[in-house]
Amino acid sequence: MVSERIKKLAMNNSAIRAMFEEGRVMAEKYGRENVYDFSLGNPNYPAPEAVKQAMIDLLNEEDPVYLHGYMSNAGFESVRAAVAGSLNDRFGTAFTENNIIMVSGASPGLNIVLKTLLDPGDEVIVFAPYFVEYGNYTANYDGKLVVVQPTTADFQPSPEALEAAITPRTKVVIVNSPNNPTGVIYSEETIKNLAAVLEKKQAEYGTSIFLLSDEPYRELAYDGAVVPFITKYYRNTVVCYSWSKSLSLPGERIGYVVIPSEVDDFELVFSGAVISFRVLGYINAPSLQQLAVARCLNESTDVSAYDANRRLLYDGLTKCGFECVFPQGAFYMWGKSPIADDKAFSAAAKKYRLLLVPGSSFAGPGYVRIAYCVSSETIRNSMPSFRQLAEEFGLKGVE
Ligand code: PLP
Repeated sequence: MVSERIKKLAMNNSAIRAMFEEGRVMAEKYGRENVYDFSLGNPNYPAPEAVKQAMIDLLNEEDPVYLHGYMSNAGFESVRAAVAGSLNDRFGTAFTENNIIMVSGASPGLNIVLKTLLDPGDEVIVFAPYFVEYGNYTANYDGKLVVVQPTTADFQPSPEALEAAITPRTKVVIVNSPNNPTGVIYSEETIKNLAAVLEKKQAEYGTSIFLLSDEPYRELAYDGAVVPFITKYYRNTVVCYSWSKSLSLPGERIGYVVIPSEVDDFELVFSGAVISFRVLGYINAPSLQQLAVARCLNESTDVSAYDANRRLLYDGLTKCGFECVFPQGAFYMWGKSPIADDKAFSAAAKKYRLLLVPGSSFAGPGYVRIAYCVSSETIRNSMPSFRQLAEEFGLKGVE
């Protein structure tokens, strides 16, 4: 009954989701407080109070026919104008509502851009380790995923490796910063180098190569780190943003796509993306959520709580003898597995009720991802388990 494509997907069902389910079963067996679930990027801090208030005010004040009705597939014009204005204030850009499409999260944003740009066999370049859904989204439109391995020790994408991977069929290069799973922020120098390679290759092949910037973690940056706004560095950039993480609203499904007027074939790309949103069956982003986030454009989740978790976890793990990338953004820590087989390592961690996602799930074997969007107690209480795990693998900790 089921298509071959879906059969294959169902058999390889996401390791992260599978682990989430496993965590649920373990919690029933051992008690929730005794299971240290670092598997899922589900924000544990609530949305700011202003978000709740905006929704209540909208429900009380607005005409329900307007509030719950259909609108243009691109979203409410007033909301798109507010988003454009907020970006212009923050990044010195010159967007209008005609550059913004409201979408139901970053995932649909990525899908509509790929649907708009890809013909079967067109190539999409990603930098490993990467958010595994990029492969599925590319396959949705019969594109070919081309994985560029990290060649720098600090997980910045290598311009040389990018240049070597580009062919006349390259349509899209996806970047994600702050990065899931490494927590790395791509530096301005990295972005400039990537842009130079793309310009050179576009000229060489006479093609358009779009840089698709997936930015659900834009606001989650620590120590005052700057996340470069990529449209300023490369003309053919499209941005996918989501409030899933920055306002702790992953279940509400709300975000936007920015398509700058200077991209090649702007009119077609913009209208193509709006049509893609419709024909993929999304129709429009949730109306109440659109209007609520438009009232909360200056709100953000409390990054200081994630920051405290980041330090607590990093200090604890390095004291146990683990080697980790100190995250600059997002809420993930990328830890080196003490053995080459990260799946075996993360299976061993389960003995101590630690749920860590094997790096292979992100095309990053030899590592594990530890999501620290959990309570600080979970991190504190998990430390004896991490220490036992470290001892099992002969790591030398410090007192
Ligand atoms: N892109 C990356 C890198 C992510 O980590 C996630 C979610 O975890 C998404 C996209 C999807 O975000 P959304 O919930 O807004 O669809």
